[in-house]
Amino acid sequence: MFIADYHTHSNFSSDSNTPLEENIKKAVSLGLKEIACTDHIDYDYPDPEYPFLFEYEPYIKEIDRLKKKYTEIKIKTGVEIGIQPHVIDKINSLVSNNFFDFVIASTHVAQDGLDLCANEFFEGKSKHQAYTDYFEEVLSNVKNYDFFNVYGHIDFINRYGSYEDKTMDYYEFKSLTDEILKTIISKGKGIEINTSGYRYGLGHPHPQFELIKRYKELGGEIITVGSDAHKPEQITFKFDKAYEMLKEAGFKYITLFTDRKPEFVKF
Ligand SMILES: [Zn+2]
Ligand SMILES: [Zn+2]
Repeated sequence: MFIADYHTHSNFSSDSNTPLEENIKKAVSLGLKEIACTDHIDYDYPDPEYPFLFEYEPYIKEIDRLKKKYTEIKIKTGVEIGIQPHVIDKINSLVSNNFFDFVIASTHVAQDGLDLCANEFFEGKSKHQAYTDYFEEVLSNVKNYDFFNVYGHIDFINRYGSYEDKTMDYYEFKSLTDEILKTIISKGKGIEINTSGYRYGLGHPHPQFELIKRYKELGGEIITVGSDAHKPEQITFKFDKAYEMLKEAGFKYITLFTDRKPEFVKF
């Protein structure tokens, strides 16, 4: 039995049409103990068709309504924040002035406004260069930003780019990814296993197994499991694989959050 899905999107995100309640109903039908609503806020996102912003008040109001209606599940108020260096003050004020149980920080845009999903970021770059640039951006984000609980899909770069073989050679980037993981651990933050990699045909979650294992070896304990669902049927997709990987990497607990404080639950 799966415990919780800690990365889900609803129509509060520009790229989902799913009413929040549909996600909750699905999570209840799957017998989950918890679901975290983690809609997108990406300040200054470069694609005007996807502003990735929502108003906090209607969001929390809807979550509160659903909490009262569905008492059989714990519904957590979360957010997935897109990190860019020039919006850090704005993000800090959002997170410090509003209540959140759980905050995912993600790098969706890098190098002064280049959108990773629009492929602009990859233009004219070798795979090695693109992956290096991406991880350098993530490293600088984890160093300069503190208001998060887990870093989202840390090898997100694997999803995009039109390289024939998107598989990342773990050893090629090990010194950079080690530094990212060490920084996350030293700050008392965590990572997530994001199973959307399977949906994108990668054959593995984000991050790939070597990084999950390395995170544990370096002393990482805080880890959440999320599907990054944008539709109810994607909730807990391939969680069997994620739990298997966690076990294989030596984890005995997954992490849940209340008021941004971690709780470790045996699985
Ligand atoms: Zn994301
Ligand atoms: Zn997401």
